[in-house]
Amino acid sequence: MPETAPQEHFLMKAARHAANLVLPARCPVSGDIVEKQGMLSSSVWSEMEFIAAPYCHHCGIPFEYAAQPGETCLACRERPPVYTSARAPLKYNDASSRLIMGFKHADKMFAVKTITPLLVKAGADFWGDVGLIIPVPLHRWRLISRRYNQAAVMAFDLAKAVNIPVLVDGLKRVRATPSQGHKKAGERRKNVKGAFALNPVYEGKLRDKRIVLVDDVLTTGATADECADVLLQAGAAAVHVLAVARAVKS
Ligand SMILES: [Zn+2]
Repeated sequence: MPETAPQEHFLMKAARHAANLVLPARCPVSGDIVEKQGMLSSSVWSEMEFIAAPYCHHCGIPFEYAAQPGETCLACRERPPVYTSARAPLKYNDASSRLIMGFKHADKMFAVKTITPLLVKAGADFWGDVGLIIPVPLHRWRLISRRYNQAAVMAFDLAKAVNIPVLVDGLKRVRATPSQGHKKAGERRKNVKGAFALNPVYEGKLRDKRIVLVDDVLTTGATADECADVLLQAGAAAVHVLAVARAVKS
């Protein structure tokens, strides 16, 4: 199968090159000097809200009370997501949003060195189980500069870290969608309906594959569900979603 081995891609080389140019190491959010590339400054670190167990077994939303293993939240019981499960290391807040937004700028590509270890840890349950990594195609990742595809860089770096093949172009965006911005869950689902398709190159190649779908932010899960639906219809056995941050109602 024409998988791309997680060896160093030219985008990663570019990212590494960019990182090497930034001396000394800096926090990708605050710009403060840090000990090692990939680290966050202590003030930014303290603003990050990390998601830890207990959380919903299906969607990964943190519980505020002790839960049984395998327990799911009310929303998942009422309307089970299409994807197999979802995890994210961070709650979506001002600090995590700045980390993600910063990463979309070419000069902050070194943020991938902060993001990858977080994703590796948050996806710990997945790595023994999956055979392929696929990123959500560009949209929120819309290019500021056409030179970089941040989703691809993130997927490649993650794939290399966990030694799992990656299909950066596994999914295609077939329809431009208005920004999900302030839309409610139902509107978001309608907004992304039919927006993604399997890259025809991989027709018949995803059968029985267990896949990790990589995204930046998990909000209502409408985009993740739509992409998962395409992959499951293409024969995938499971689609686990891994996002940098997820929205949590406070
Ligand atoms: Zn849930």
